[in-house]
Amino acid sequence: MVLMMLNSPAQAQESEWQEIKGHHFVVYYGPSEDLEAARQVLRKAEEYYRKIGDQIGYTRYLNFWTWDERVRIFMFHDQESFIHGTGQPVWIAGYVDRDAQLFESYTIMTYKQEENFYDGLLPHEISHLIMRDFISPPQKSQYGRTPDRPIPVWLDEGVAQLQETYKYEIAEDMMRVLVHKGQHIPFEMFVRWDIRTEKEPVKIKAFYAQSLMVVRFLINTYGSSVFGRFCRSLRDGKTLEEALRSAYSNRILSVPELEKKWIQFMGGRSF
Ligand SMILES: [Zn+2]
Repeated sequence: MVLMMLNSPAQAQESEWQEIKGHHFVVYYGPSEDLEAARQVLRKAEEYYRKIGDQIGYTRYLNFWTWDERVRIFMFHDQESFIHGTGQPVWIAGYVDRDAQLFESYTIMTYKQEENFYDGLLPHEISHLIMRDFISPPQKSQYGRTPDRPIPVWLDEGVAQLQETYKYEIAEDMMRVLVHKGQHIPFEMFVRWDIRTEKEPVKIKAFYAQSLMVVRFLINTYGSSVFGRFCRSLRDGKTLEEALRSAYSNRILSVPELEKKWIQFMGGRSF
């Protein structure tokens, strides 16, 4: 990930940034870049914004990024200028390092040809920003909530991977095997785990795969608008169990019941 604490393009130390603006995003690109590439990034970002909102039942609430609060996307020419301009080493592959700085700023940075930028990093980070506004809006928001209300990490990462469809098969295969062996992450631990402090790659991988499959289970089985209600209940201060009960009424009444139904889903049918 690369959400950076940059307040203005000048801080990225690349002179003469040019910009193009969409409804929710501004794309900054250097003088040597072509406008078409920047337009493509902007188009994809706006598309994802709508699509993610639809998928998590948030579309009609998607009005929080106003003209002066647009998310900034910086496109660097290459890896070298990215490192030079940001002072950041290129991240090691894997979400934990990339996500560690999440929520610092409404800024996404990349360089041309970054692997999986369009179908991975870009939608992943946009999803996190939408979830933050959905569940944990900043202080100035209309909800009058405290600014740091934590989003359950599994929920945040599960939603963030929904657009990364190239991961579906791997995650599904992995979780089917683990569920079959009774080795998935027990939900009691799973729903409380802050994976961002975990260092063991195997655990991190399982956590991300399980997060994705649990969110897919909820959305595929019960639909996007119920999922939206569930997220809004969390935003309104309900605990996870209360939010499950209020959105999924008599279908999922507790975390153990969620676990049981998810295990059936993983083992009992193909999807
Ligand atoms: Zn993430």
